Amino acid sequence: MTSTFYASFDKLGAFFTSLAAVIIGMLVFIGYRFFEVYTLFERHLPMDADVVWVAGKLIAFVFVFTMLLIAVNIDKVHPEATVWGTLLGALITLFVNLYFWEVWHGDMTFKVIVSVITAAFDAWFGHLFVIKLREREAYLWASKEKARERVAMMKLQDALTCKKCGVTFKSQNALNGHSGRCKA
Ligand SMILES: [Zn+2]
Repeated sequence: MTSTFYASFDKLGAFFTSLAAVIIGMLVFIGYRFFEVYTLFERHLPMDADVVWVAGKLIAFVFVFTMLLIAVNIDKVHPEATVWGTLLGALITLFVNLYFWEVWHGDMTFKVIVSVITAAFDAWFGHLFVIKLREREAYLWASKEKARERVAMMKLQDALTCKKCGVTFKSQNALNGHSGRCKA
């Protein structure tokens, strides 16, 4: 009972540290960012209400999706680009938030803090995603390598096994020596 109890927490822990959890978190976060950008464009687009409804969403999708693609691919451009790209992405998120919250109205401190936190989340998610993706790729590569080694080992074992009696030998010479004398 107790071991099952702890095992379920181990599974939960493994999930929270997985690439899947990071992707789910990112999608939820992107949903929120989509809402922010959409609200901003809806507020500022000089169009009729019914056109704005579609245009705002389209622009927000392009905006957020572009930022996502850049954030998760930037490390392939150049290792140093990761730092600058992440900072730039966070800065854009910060500006979007300062405008979304209209920091110049009302409780400025609260609004600035929320904006900075959201920008930090943006940078962390991008960074976490790249780390987790590389970790997953390394794991999959190692698994593939292990499977390849296993197949090679089985082939070698098969080659060193006497086809008549089924005994496996340590070397080709041993097998050759046996083959002539095999009684099976
Ligand atoms: Zn034999």
